[in-house]
Amino acid sequence: MKRRSFLKNTAASGMACALSPVFPYFADPKYSTEELMGKADIKLFGEGINLREEAYNSFLEMKKAAYSAGFDIKMVSSFRDYYHQQRIWERKYLNYTEDLGLSPFDAIEKIIEYSTIPGTSRHHWGTDIDIIDGFPKSSGDVLVPEKFEAGGPYEGFKLWLDENSTKYGFYLVYTNNPRRRGFKYEPWHYSYAPISIPMLTAYRKLNILKLLEEERFMGSEHFTAGFIKTYLQDNILDINPVLL
Ligand SMILES: [Zn+2]
Repeated sequence: MKRRSFLKNTAASGMACALSPVFPYFADPKYSTEELMGKADIKLFGEGINLREEAYNSFLEMKKAAYSAGFDIKMVSSFRDYYHQQRIWERKYLNYTEDLGLSPFDAIEKIIEYSTIPGTSRHHWGTDIDIIDGFPKSSGDVLVPEKFEAGGPYEGFKLWLDENSTKYGFYLVYTNNPRRRGFKYEPWHYSYAPISIPMLTAYRKLNILKLLEEERFMGSEHFTAGFIKTYLQDNILDINPVLL
């Protein structure tokens, strides 16, 4: 996708937001609370790809271009619903508190280095992907920052993405900016901006604190209003500014 048309789209959606107080019933009609929190049964496209239609089509274009350049884009993770995220969260919470003996507070801080609180993941939206290059042989965990750096198996792939992913609307979310707070650098996590920007705008209008208070999962009883406020500021909003 051309950057110019993308900027034009975001300018148009910005105008719609400015108008929404006048037409409150039309504010973000496309995205329900359930959908934004990963609890809705949304239509996903592509076997093993699982993205919203427009994101899927653009992903296929990017995959074709990458293949011509010698990279085989492999999807490690795309859409995850609320309950999947809850299983990830609870597995880590049990591991950190019971196996490693961390306090609930320390366990939660450790989980949110890389994993989101259920109901707050960008993977709930059908717009975000974790990708690697399927060609190089690599052992152990694949989603490791060093593997995308100089000398790592995905070094060339990452350089190609730096040059090309935005042509298809895909932007890095958790960048390498040392001043960024929240989630650590994730060179594998890209977001399809033309849909995820309006979804984040809609998400920001929700009362997340209240919504999370209504949820029950391991460790959630330790969340305080202050913790959630900082989490939203750092982990949800301190991302690549292009995606805000
Ligand atoms: Zn991810």
